[in-house]
Amino acid sequence: MTVDPASRSVRGLTVLITGAASGMGRATAELFAAEGANVAATDLAEPAVRELADGLQAKGLTAEAWGLDVADAAAIVTVTDAVAARFGGIDVLINNAGISAFAPIDSQGYEAVWDRALAVLLTAHQRLVRAALPHLRRSASPRIINIASTEALGATARDSAYAAAKAGVTGLTRALAVELGREGITVNCICPGPILTGMTAAIPDADRATFARRRTALGRYGRPEEVAHMTLSLALPAASYITGAVIPVDGGLMARNA
Ligand code: NAD
Repeated sequence: MTVDPASRSVRGLTVLITGAASGMGRATAELFAAEGANVAATDLAEPAVRELADGLQAKGLTAEAWGLDVADAAAIVTVTDAVAARFGGIDVLINNAGISAFAPIDSQGYEAVWDRALAVLLTAHQRLVRAALPHLRRSASPRIINIASTEALGATARDSAYAAAKAGVTGLTRALAVELGREGITVNCICPGPILTGMTAAIPDADRATFARRRTALGRYGRPEEVAHMTLSLALPAASYITGAVIPVDGGLMARNA
């Protein structure tokens, strides 16, 4: 497919999204589909991601679902190749799937939490990049977008496994931006702040409101689509000179001291 390098559209581009069944991944899949992309929606929760793709197809949009546990190295290769075969390539990889991983450093079971956090939140990213790379190299507008967290930039007590994994994502982003830049592959990272998704749904409303009022500049939680819009912006062909960037989408959380 030929792509106008100044294009501000993802129409016709193929985007592979992990963790697309819920929250930011779901909002991202919906936004890219509405913008005319071919959406490969993948998730551990296979029925939910199938239901998402069916709904998008019913609206006349282009989307297909795959069950994918990003902690499964072999499945990453199989699904990535299946996506490329189905749509004739991959232009945009969005590493979004995630879990929370709270555990005090001296808690029993910390090792298991650490291993799972690193596997899902960091190791999976490099594996998906390596699986998608041959396909991205054939794209006229190759983009990698990693979803990290403001926990990569500051940190919360009892969240060290998650914070370490997310800080790893920012390092991986920079290193791959440098390594792949000469090939025109851009690699960027978004650090969402507090966003209303499945991950934060269990927090009582009053606690969410208090946190947002005290900590963010905008005084509220973000909506998943507010992150999806930044992801879309980074995926545009016209975003060709943005790489290695670590971009907070956090309602001003990181900007605020008091
Ligand atoms: P969510 O729970 O709504 O969605 C996460 C999705 O990832 C789910 O559909 C889940 O099934 C999927 N998933 C979990 N483990 C998986 C695995 N092993 N393989 C494949 N899919 C898996 O949460 P969300 O908030 O939308 O999370 C999206 C990303 O944003 C995550 O990387 C998360 O760490 C990050 N994040 C979230 C917030 C927030 O406040 N919600 C803030 C910063 C960063």
